[in-house]
Amino acid sequence: MIYADNAATTKISSNVLRVMLPILSDEFGNPSAIYDLGGRAKRIIENARIQVAEAIGAKTREIYFTSGGTESDNWAIKGAASICRKKNKNHIISTTFEHRAVIDSLEFLRRSGFEVTLIDVGASGIIDPIKLRETIRSNTGFVTIMFANNEIGTIQPIAELGEICRDFDLLFHTDAVQVIGEIEIDLRSLPVDLLSVSGHKIHAAKGVGVLYIRDGVEIDKFMDGGNQERGYRAGTENTAAIAGIGAAMQDAVAGRGNRIFVTKMRDAFFDGVLQLGKVRIHGDKKQRLSGNANIGFDGIEGELVVLKLNCHGICCSTGAACSAGAIEPSHVIKALGFNSNKAKEAVRFTFSEENTFEEINYILDKLKEI
Ligand code: PLP
Repeated sequence: MIYADNAATTKISSNVLRVMLPILSDEFGNPSAIYDLGGRAKRIIENARIQVAEAIGAKTREIYFTSGGTESDNWAIKGAASICRKKNKNHIISTTFEHRAVIDSLEFLRRSGFEVTLIDVGASGIIDPIKLRETIRSNTGFVTIMFANNEIGTIQPIAELGEICRDFDLLFHTDAVQVIGEIEIDLRSLPVDLLSVSGHKIHAAKGVGVLYIRDGVEIDKFMDGGNQERGYRAGTENTAAIAGIGAAMQDAVAGRGNRIFVTKMRDAFFDGVLQLGKVRIHGDKKQRLSGNANIGFDGIEGELVVLKLNCHGICCSTGAACSAGAIEPSHVIKALGFNSNKAKEAVRFTFSEENTFEEINYILDKLKEI
């Protein structure tokens, strides 16, 4: 099998597995219990909090564990909206190509009385900071823009966008689910108030994530119930998965150098694909995540290409995993300016450091056959 769908999910790394297994088998205590078994589980969680905080230049008290990127996005957006409501600001800004977790949270807010403006990303898939400046109004309270897009991999100028939000005293959230280990994040200097992370995109387990909440941002709690996560996110903690995401964050930062190899492989893939003719690359070719290649094949539905490649043991996708099987064409490709038929031609390959040049050549051979 050739796995080229790392934006959908990643394999748990051997280090993360090594960290998680003894916790699953032995450290089963409830972290809230006051006897030693509980205390040890609590310490495992606090150690992971230190690891996560270190990896992104945050303070430990700014790190909250969640059930994944979707929950982190929901909490950040709905929490920021309630801060806005208290300040009588009912306008929110985002973009046309966010992840569904963001788009649907914004839709929920729209139904409850907020006005939402989505900035057009244009053909490059990169937001022009001037457009953000032009969209801000006197009643704008909050901006959410993803760090890098999960379908086309384009990287946004988050520092610049965050500076604009600072200038206008706006809360700023970014969905950083796809960028951990790819781009250096130092929240001591990066002007971001809320940042979402997901474990399973960085070789940790599914069902665990992080929301960074900057000190001083008085966001409401998300889950009602127990006192876990300092009373902000109730629910008995998934100790093993939390330990795993702590290790994975450290590994991701330490392994950033591998991205050079991944970029070379991806660029070789681009070269080979372009030689096939009648293909196009979706989004800016350079300012994108190292492993992402999103290709449009003229006149062929992406789903057919994915199914044919599957017959050769190759895993790739047409777009976001959570939308797979959806009849609707990708809103991300449409946001670049393509019509629905063209948007259905997209195929996403996302490589990791575990892929090889031999695999790239094999995929190219099979694409040529198809
Ligand atoms: N945000 C982005 C950019 C993603 O790619 C994903 C996963 O596909 C999510 C959020 C949702 O994360 P999770 O699967 O952990 O809920």
